[in-house]
Amino acid sequence: MLVVMQATASAVDIERVCTAISDMGYQPLPMPGAQRTTVGLIGNDRRVDGSHIEALPGVAEIIYVSSPFKQVSREWREANTQVTIAPGVTFGGSDVPVIAGPCSVESEAQIMAAAQLVRAAGAVALRGGAFKPRSSPYSFQGLGKDGLVLLQRAKAETGLAIVTEAMDDEGAHWVAEYADCIQIGARNMQNYSLLKTVGKLRKPILLKRGMAATVQELLLSAEYILAEGNDQVILCERGVRTWDPSSRNMFDLSAIPAVQKLSHLPIIADPSHGTGVRDRVRPMARAAVAAGADGLIIEVHPDPNKALSDGAQSLFPQQFSALMQELVPIANAIGRRMPTLAAR
Ligand code: PEP
Ligand code: MN
Repeated sequence: MLVVMQATASAVDIERVCTAISDMGYQPLPMPGAQRTTVGLIGNDRRVDGSHIEALPGVAEIIYVSSPFKQVSREWREANTQVTIAPGVTFGGSDVPVIAGPCSVESEAQIMAAAQLVRAAGAVALRGGAFKPRSSPYSFQGLGKDGLVLLQRAKAETGLAIVTEAMDDEGAHWVAEYADCIQIGARNMQNYSLLKTVGKLRKPILLKRGMAATVQELLLSAEYILAEGNDQVILCERGVRTWDPSSRNMFDLSAIPAVQKLSHLPIIADPSHGTGVRDRVRPMARAAVAAGADGLIIEVHPDPNKALSDGAQSLFPQQFSALMQELVPIANAIGRRMPTLAAR
């Protein structure tokens, strides 16, 4: 439930509404706006009776939020939320920032080469897992904390923002210290304890859609993060399980406009995991920008044939720079812009 205050409502009026919500056993969340304040009621999972609040002085109207996700919904907040992970790197506005880099951080030479090449091609953020959630326990598990140090070095060298995954509560604190944005992977989309942990951290979060998750489940997972006070959440479509062995996943482009209708949070696309096949990444990246994605995350490796993870879907450097050129007119055609980092 949302209590919209009149533009002329006083601080005392707002306080009275907050007290009334607390007395009902819920949590009030005052949200001052340019014209007027709105007070959200959180903690309810079904409709509550707000008629006595509607009668309080200074209250303009009550809006009942019908979706099961509350703070994430467009009913709760009409305007797009913009998430800035570093100066000049904003998701949810007219820019379409590209996060690019290898699946995993493998060595200093590899991540430095990757950072230089994606930056030269026009990416504004560097991806690379230090903590890797691998399907097999015998696969490369990432360099752990050493990988975070290397990412930090790559940032110092190139100015790229850093996006990297956290797999557990302890890792989330480490990642928060070194990265600009904490990635929660598909396998952890419903790890509610991790979602609550990152909700308490004051860092932007990249929340990827689970392998078999519905759009509603994705939004409910985001709600966990917002419910803890962190509204800096970027959603990510990365494909869902398919019966068809010709593709690693089924890249659900239609989830992009679907999420944008239901939620004010930005949604980006990951055509790399979405397809799992290098040659499909470029066409699907172009399609995602045309569909209105608020950004892209793409796997690129200096030498994909030697990659320790996801080599088959990693672009060669030259393919990535060609793609970045192709995206400019597509973004411009729908009134958006491919941002670049200031020269350094
Ligand atoms: C990744 O980004 O490398 C990754 C493991 O992605 P996902 O969680 O979408 O599988
Ligand atoms: Mn990967």
